[in-house]
Amino acid sequence: MSYATEISANLAAIRARIAEACRRANRAPEEVTLVAVSKTHPQEAVLAALAAGQTVFGENRVQEAEGKFPALRAAHPGLRLHIIGGLQTNKARDAVALADVIETIDRPKLAAAIAAAMAKEGRRPDCLVQVNTGDEAQKSGIPRAEADAFIRAARDDHGLPVTGLMCIPPVEGDPRPHFAFLRDLAARHDLPVVSMGMSGDFEAAIAEGATHVRIGTAIFGHRPAPA
Ligand SMILES: *Cc1c(COP(=O)(O)O)cnc(C)c1O
Repeated sequence: MSYATEISANLAAIRARIAEACRRANRAPEEVTLVAVSKTHPQEAVLAALAAGQTVFGENRVQEAEGKFPALRAAHPGLRLHIIGGLQTNKARDAVALADVIETIDRPKLAAAIAAAMAKEGRRPDCLVQVNTGDEAQKSGIPRAEADAFIRAARDDHGLPVTGLMCIPPVEGDPRPHFAFLRDLAARHDLPVVSMGMSGDFEAAIAEGATHVRIGTAIFGHRPAPA
């Protein structure tokens, strides 16, 4: 199979698994958006996915996304790019200029930088608050105990267009309590978007109410080890 054919077949298989997970959860498949995570994969991979009807993509590094996506927008007006990786404040302006959704708002300094960048760029991508549901020391995301106050501050004090929440549960253990926690937190704040679930656990995330699943490996194959 060619690379493009393989990506197209993988996408079809993932869409079928999403539909089946929705069916089991008594949810409509339209409630779940597939974010195809193309980080580390070449523009050719994105083109193959676009040809197979995929329009929503995720990248975790702004600089890498800048090399792949702007040139594709003219030919693909429906393309939507999500930034899903940790953001340094000095990348805020580039992220605001490039992204349709920024999924990783996780601290007051970054919220302030993104708000300032929006004013300068005249562009307001949707924002998600990333929650460190496992309270893991090495992981980005706002800690559980601070999440309520931070969501309110991001929205009300910084004026960000916060539409939802995002999490990456700990690698070990059952992700479902983390997914349930995020869903309930979003509901408490009247936030419609719940971004959770990756290649290994997206069906469980859909069962717990995910509206967006972020899938890389199962579509594009394994990422090369970092140099
Ligand atoms: C890489 C990445 C994904 C995709 O993970 P896979 O296991 O390859 O599906 C999802 N979310 C975030 C934040 C990522 O960095």
